[in-house]
Amino acid sequence: MRGIAVNNITGCLICGRPLVYARGTVRKRCRVCGGMFDADAYCAGGHYVCDACHAGGSMSVVRAVCMAAETDDPYEIALEIMRSPAVHMHGPEHHVLIGAALAVAYCRASGRTKLLGRYLDTIEKRGKKVPGGTCGFWGACGAALGAGIFLSVVTDSSPLATDVHGLCNRLTARCLAAIGELGGPRCCKRNVGLALRETVAFVRENLGVSMREPQILCEFHELNSECIGARCPFSRSVITG
Ligand SMILES: [Zn+2]
Ligand SMILES: [Zn+2]
Repeated sequence: MRGIAVNNITGCLICGRPLVYARGTVRKRCRVCGGMFDADAYCAGGHYVCDACHAGGSMSVVRAVCMAAETDDPYEIALEIMRSPAVHMHGPEHHVLIGAALAVAYCRASGRTKLLGRYLDTIEKRGKKVPGGTCGFWGACGAALGAGIFLSVVTDSSPLATDVHGLCNRLTARCLAAIGELGGPRCCKRNVGLALRETVAFVRENLGVSMREPQILCEFHELNSECIGARCPFSRSVITG
C-alpha cells in the first residue's frame, strides 16, 4: 500500500496550480476548514489551505471539494478530487473519495443536503479502514466497497438490518461484477468510474433517486503505466475511434 505523502506537494492542494507568495500577509479563509488565517501564500486561482488542513492531505481535499460542490453528478465531484496533487494515480484514498462523491450527488438529487456533513464523517471513517490492494488481495476492489459504504450510510444499514442489508450487498456485488468483467491489472480511476456508473443506475432503480448520469472520458491514462488502453470503456481511443 502506498502512503499518502503530502509533504512533497508544491502546488495548490485543491487544484495543483503554483502558489503565489503575497507581499506581506493577507487574511484568507481556508478552503477546507473555513477558518480565517494570516496567509503568506495562496494559489493563482485564489485557493488558500491552512497548515493543519494541508497536513491532512487527500482527506482535506475530499472534504473541501464535497462541501463546495453544487452538482448531482458524482463523477464531476470525484474528478475534481482526483485532479488534486494530493491524490495518487492509484491508492486507498479512492476508497473514501468515491463514497464521498456519491453522498454529495445523492444529497443534492434527493434534497437532503443537511445530512451531508454527517454522511461524510462516517464515509471517511469507514472508507479509511479499507487498505490499498484489496482488488488483488481480497477479491473485492475498494471502489466497490466504497460504493457499498455510501449506500450503507445513506440507508442507515447495519448488520441487523433486513431490506437495506440486502440492498447494500447487492450494490457492492453489482459494482464488483462490472469491475471483474474487465479484469486487471488494477486501475483505481477505471474502477471508480465503473462503480459510480453502476451505483447511479442502482440507486435510481431501487431508491427512485436520480443522480446525474456520469459521462466519463479518462484523463489519467498517461499517468498509468498499466493502462489497459482500448479495453477500458473510458479510453479516448474507444470513444473517438
Ligand atoms: Zn488552487
Ligand atoms: Zn484549514
